[in-house]
Amino acid sequence: MKIGILAVQGAFAEHEQMLEQLGAEYIELRKGEDVRQSYDGLILPGGESTVQGKLMRELDMFDTIQSQIKNGMPVLATCAGAILLAQQLSNDAATHLATLPAVVRRNAYGRQLGSFSVDEQIEGIGTFPMRFIRAPYIEKVLDDTKVLAKVDGNIVMVENKNQLAMSFHPELTSDTRIHEMFLKKI
Ligand code: GLN
Repeated sequence: MKIGILAVQGAFAEHEQMLEQLGAEYIELRKGEDVRQSYDGLILPGGESTVQGKLMRELDMFDTIQSQIKNGMPVLATCAGAILLAQQLSNDAATHLATLPAVVRRNAYGRQLGSFSVDEQIEGIGTFPMRFIRAPYIEKVLDDTKVLAKVDGNIVMVENKNQLAMSFHPELTSDTRIHEMFLKKI
């Protein structure tokens, strides 16, 4: 089993460390030819979604990644990654991969005071330490997207078939359960 990690910007190294701990192989996706290699799952890390979206297009990765997800490849998206997946952004006219039936709000907690940690329940996992950094939240789920976690009434984690997206950063904690949940989908 091999995971492709989008590695053009943001917190991809922390996801790599998680996968190393779990004994899963990975490759970094940095350019067009990388996304045309063979791998079984995708990770879209946190960072800056506008920059990541622009680089995916400029580096000729966008169409291939989009069709891999549409064709059912399991994807784990954290923070900016969730913004890349959203079918609609409530406060930005641009969308990116747009494969996840959900409306996402960028910087939903404000830009400066947007970093905090909280322990909350995730369906199928239990209490999880959630770390938020200038995070989005999911304003609305569409179609058959399932809510897996909420914080203060706001949706922070969802699942739609092969797509698992969250506002927070499990890769910045020592808790590997979300990555294990993702690897089980492969
Ligand atoms: N605010 C960032 C964005 O809009 C996401 C923040 C993050 O990934 N930690 O892309």
